[in-house]
Amino acid sequence: MNVSFELADEQATLAFGAQLVACMNDDMRIYLSGDLGAGKTTLTRGVLRGLGYEGAVKSPTYTLVEPYQALAKTLYHFDLYRLGAPEEIEYMGLRDYFDDSAIVLVEWPERGLPLLPRPDLAITIVVADSGRRATLVAESAVGEECLHSLQATFL
Ligand code: ADP
Ligand code: MG
Repeated sequence: MNVSFELADEQATLAFGAQLVACMNDDMRIYLSGDLGAGKTTLTRGVLRGLGYEGAVKSPTYTLVEPYQALAKTLYHFDLYRLGAPEEIEYMGLRDYFDDSAIVLVEWPERGLPLLPRPDLAITIVVADSGRRATLVAESAVGEECLHSLQATFL
């Protein structure tokens, strides 16, 4: 199953991220693909805003992962852009984060494949006119449910 959403501006990307929270469980895994500047970090910021987190949200380009606590939930935000090889996930102990009961959002998951577990939702963002188009693919039952409820609520 595969659904696209048109995001007219940055606010729409933030609102879409916040809307995702409604259908997320506490160990949801979401992979975010798209070029530099597509809006992966903006979407992540929207998710964190939806969870009530008010602080700064930047791509963890050098640290590769940034942990957040909000609404008694743990969220790990990964940016694997600078990962040299998938094996570094093992060396750097990053694999353990995926075993935690936590929401996990990953920018540049391609860099970590095939050593990453499958996501619940794979989101690809592309530039479309002056905005963005986000295409979501459900890869688990939870992801599928989430897509259905987003389709019904996010217009
Ligand atoms: P990435 O993490 O994919 O490299 P960022 O989220 O850091 O991208 O940056 C995306 C840029 O695009 C920001 O300048 C943001 O304001 C802008 N942006 C985000 N969503 C949209 C949208 N729907 N339409 C137009 N611009 C957007
Ligand atoms: Mg980013």
